[in-house]
Amino acid sequence: MSVQTPIIELRDITRHFGEGELIVPVLKGVDLTIHPGEFVAIMGPSGSGKSTLMNILGCLDVASAGQYLFSGRDVSKLANDDLARLRREAFGFVFQSYNLLPGISARENVEIPAIYAGLPAVERRVRAEQLLCGLGLENRLNNRPSQLSGGQQQRVSIARALMNGGQIILADEPTGALDSESSKDVMRLLVDLSRQGHTVILITHDADVANVADRQITIGDGLITSDTAGEANALPEDGAPAPAFSRNRGSSPWTDWQEAVKSAVRSLHTNLFRTALTLLGIVIGVASVITMLAIGEGAKKDVVDRISSMGSDLLLVRPGGPDQRGGRWSVTTLVPDDFKAINNIPGVLAAIPELTGSQVLRYGNRNHQAEINATSFQFPLARQWPLKEGTFFTADDEGEYASVAVLGETAAQSLFPDQSPLGEYLMVNNVLFQVIGVMAQRGASPWGQDQDDVVFVPYTTGSLRIFGQQHLRNITVAVADVENMDGVQDQVHSTLLQRHGLEDFQIRNMASLIDTVSETQNTLTWLLGSVAAISLLVGGVGVMNIMLVNVTERTREIGIRMATGARAWNILQQFLTEAWLVSAIGGLIGVVLGIVATQIVGAFGTPVYVTLLPMVLAFSCAFTTGLLFGFLPARKAANLDPVHALASE
Ligand code: ADP
Ligand code: MG
Repeated sequence: MSVQTPIIELRDITRHFGEGELIVPVLKGVDLTIHPGEFVAIMGPSGSGKSTLMNILGCLDVASAGQYLFSGRDVSKLANDDLARLRREAFGFVFQSYNLLPGISARENVEIPAIYAGLPAVERRVRAEQLLCGLGLENRLNNRPSQLSGGQQQRVSIARALMNGGQIILADEPTGALDSESSKDVMRLLVDLSRQGHTVILITHDADVANVADRQITIGDGLITSDTAGEANALPEDGAPAPAFSRNRGSSPWTDWQEAVKSAVRSLHTNLFRTALTLLGIVIGVASVITMLAIGEGAKKDVVDRISSMGSDLLLVRPGGPDQRGGRWSVTTLVPDDFKAINNIPGVLAAIPELTGSQVLRYGNRNHQAEINATSFQFPLARQWPLKEGTFFTADDEGEYASVAVLGETAAQSLFPDQSPLGEYLMVNNVLFQVIGVMAQRGASPWGQDQDDVVFVPYTTGSLRIFGQQHLRNITVAVADVENMDGVQDQVHSTLLQRHGLEDFQIRNMASLIDTVSETQNTLTWLLGSVAAISLLVGGVGVMNIMLVNVTERTREIGIRMATGARAWNILQQFLTEAWLVSAIGGLIGVVLGIVATQIVGAFGTPVYVTLLPMVLAFSCAFTTGLLFGFLPARKAANLDPVHALASE
């Protein structure tokens, strides 16, 4: 025997399956030593444990007891990733059923072990092509396995076994499924490889095939029954070490990701319909979150805008005590002196009185019913309401009880449809008022009323000549600095309390009203949003479902990848990548669809408001759910046992 360290040394290896009563012993104490460069055939009847032995030799399976030394190292002490590395660097598997991945070309199949070894793409491609050409497959590089004959497929799988060097070729009945011609071809190849220095271990039940090898081992009922080692020249003539191929670099995280994305895209593409359905779940989830939040935000913005359009810097003083309900029109506790007093409070921009009532306006033979608002000259300032044309009345007009009027846009349009109202006289309650101005258009009030259907007159004139009384409907106080609202409110309160001696008025703060309303609307938004988020969750469950099916369906592929050297992490990464890719694509389409849906809803008149946050939120949610829900199936895949995975149909 040689003084060389044996490349493989088995000591009393046993392997049993099952537990307790149901225990099935398969290998019952195998001792075997194989030196580098040997060509060994293992024979035995079906069920004698040949494949089990082969799986242990190739580090796809672990013995129940006994010692396996690979180049002197105890394999049982190696972690899973180190076993994967050993498979990748030392072994090349050739199976009876070829075990090529169906979805990719011959060349890509051959490249797989090099992907896990981290060979750069170009070198990988060149080497795969060299190997395939060397095996006479130069015309079949881009064919799928299903387009190749059995013999051709087996040659592809031999090329794959050689991709990372294939120091030891493990061939489990490689000719079992082939016709005699192809069998001879394959055997010739194995002999060639052996001559080149590869260690070849061949399993067969055909004595003729076995005789090609230099050493024949027979196995029966879990034990080695005969071994020709030592009888003749067990070592190859030249005793050359296996051809070394640069293979120790291992893959880098960056190329790992690249490959994972590539293979994920391919797999998603292969199951296009299924991918589309999975996407649909995510798309609907994301789109509905965006649309719902846009509608919720739109409703909020609409209400808040309407209220704010009155001015967020306003205090509204109304007659009647805080506990007084109903009949407010008849409450007569606010008088013009009140608003004058409030005007003197520091921090008040303007306090204006308002006496209102509906009246019929007449111009020529036209009649129009509108609201009369008797107020002060500071109205445009307090309400931030500019004029369209003409002027507002002045303090002097008030002092002189002038009969002047300023029209709102609607009132102006009704009475003067095709002429300028400026300078014209209109009749209100049998009093002639001269029109001196028209207000800019204001639109609907928060309560849906047309604010432009109005006529403004000085409060002095209005109370004397239209309403016949001077009790105010309210006083609107514009505060100079919104920050100071509460302080001013307190002062207005104490001023009025002092003047009236009792609390026969109420003060409403528009800023806090807006806060309250937007709070309420926020609740609505969150309600809509969370209903939509549930559909996103359902989308995530869809991803998980599909991924689980995916893993089950591709168990064999996982086994093949593991046999060619994939680490558990590579498998985890591959399936996780599929999950997040689906989620990301679904999320993007969902965002686009959500924007489109929002625009459509908006076009039908519902107020909508699209902001960036819900989009980012919905997209990241989709992405995260995809990852979370994809993790379980991916881990399931990564934890598969290579032998079981390979055996699955
Ligand atoms: P061979 O390849 O020599 O035909 P195998 O090594 O495949 O035989 O199987 C040997 C015996 O071990 C068979 O009887 C088979 O039923 C049993 N066996 C193999 N794998 C398992 C397993 N995972 N669980 C239970 N029994 C198994
Ligand atoms: Mg077998």
